[in-house]
Amino acid sequence: MTVKSVLAIGSHPDDVELGCAGALSAHRAMGHSTSILVMSGGEQSRNYLGNLRELEQEASAKSLGASLYWGGFVDCGIPDDHTTIDRIEAVMDAVRPDVIYVHAPDDAHQDHRIVAAATVSAGRRTSRILYYQSPSTTRFEPTIFVDISDHLGAKLSALTCHKSQVNAESVQLDAIAASARHWGAFARVVLAEAFVPVRFVWDMGSPRSILDDYIDVHASAEEILQRLTTSG
Ligand SMILES: [Zn+2]
Repeated sequence: MTVKSVLAIGSHPDDVELGCAGALSAHRAMGHSTSILVMSGGEQSRNYLGNLRELEQEASAKSLGASLYWGGFVDCGIPDDHTTIDRIEAVMDAVRPDVIYVHAPDDAHQDHRIVAAATVSAGRRTSRILYYQSPSTTRFEPTIFVDISDHLGAKLSALTCHKSQVNAESVQLDAIAASARHWGAFARVVLAEAFVPVRFVWDMGSPRSILDDYIDVHASAEEILQRLTTSG
């Protein structure tokens, strides 16, 4: 269950950075491949101008060293059906994530709720899915923390790429820094990002990589037992 690839999913430009850019920077520092999937172009933003928000998102992903994927849906119109799940699955097929980050489901924004639920469906075979906090999250009781004491600068730099949003409603840099210190105190480190696990398998050095390598639905019970007892 070694982590090699990480996927962070957000509904709009800057969602991922607000929720887990520090963790993405930490993953990157450990040599993990990082990818960001943004499901819509943020067309409903107050400061929306042409494709400005897409350009800002591209600059931010670049600053984090992350590959960027687009969902192709429209802000406030992300469908609550299989097309959203299909798009997430297509990106998962491309990046094969060992960890997925996504919005927490209790949220005032319908896009966030829909993308959270769709990600849990798309990630049904993924061993680690973590919910991150958004400014519009309504309930959040984290029990998993990532130490971002060395990565707050990278997080703030990425957010600063979203120039049209900085110090507007969602991207308040002082609040983001204060939040990192707040969660750091809970996590007994200096600065942290906080997460609620859907599922979280701790890496204890198992050589087993992905479920598909071990589970064959056509195998007999004897074959499965033999594989499991002779592996690793
Ligand atoms: Zn959003």
